[in-house]
Amino acid sequence: MSRLDLFIDRMVSQRACLDHAATLTAKLSGPVFELGLGNGRTYHHMCQILPPRDIYVFERAVASHPDSTPPEDRVLLGDVFETLPAALERFGAVARLIHADLGGHDAAKNDAFARRVSPMIAPLLAPDGLMVSSDRMYFDDLKEIDLPEAAVPGRCFIYQR
Ligand code: SAM
Repeated sequence: MSRLDLFIDRMVSQRACLDHAATLTAKLSGPVFELGLGNGRTYHHMCQILPPRDIYVFERAVASHPDSTPPEDRVLLGDVFETLPAALERFGAVARLIHADLGGHDAAKNDAFARRVSPMIAPLLAPDGLMVSSDRMYFDDLKEIDLPEAAVPGRCFIYQR
């Protein structure tokens, strides 16, 4: 597969999984966490399918497209290894949906990062809440659920409490 193929599969899968997760969690009322703003493409999509004021963004340095920049009071600025534990103290286990796209181009580094960050993400999810990730995560107490038809296996993962 070319890098273009992989990129397209990731984008198609992110959109399909976010749409699916938004539908499956529609009855839950907690906040939504976007981990890794980047250009803001997935944040922008989430604002179309979820109440924008419910979305909190975790990012170490905001550099998104102007149309995809969250309001200041919805940004948790800093390294997720500090902001995730702070969010647990602030919000508790209430997140309806958590989306993580924190990785870069190095698959081995992404996997090591996913192993380290998984235990900090799991406690934030509400009962029945969903976690959507571009990388495989390592949760003891969340179960992996089936992907929607439009997603490409291995390019996106969905976990449920
Ligand atoms: N989903 C985004 C989009 O659609 O535009 C792309 C996200 S980009 C692949 C990853 C982002 O995660 C980068 O902006 C990077 O700064 C952020 N990030 C990576 N590691 C982080 C960390 N430890 N703490 C906070 N942010 C981090």
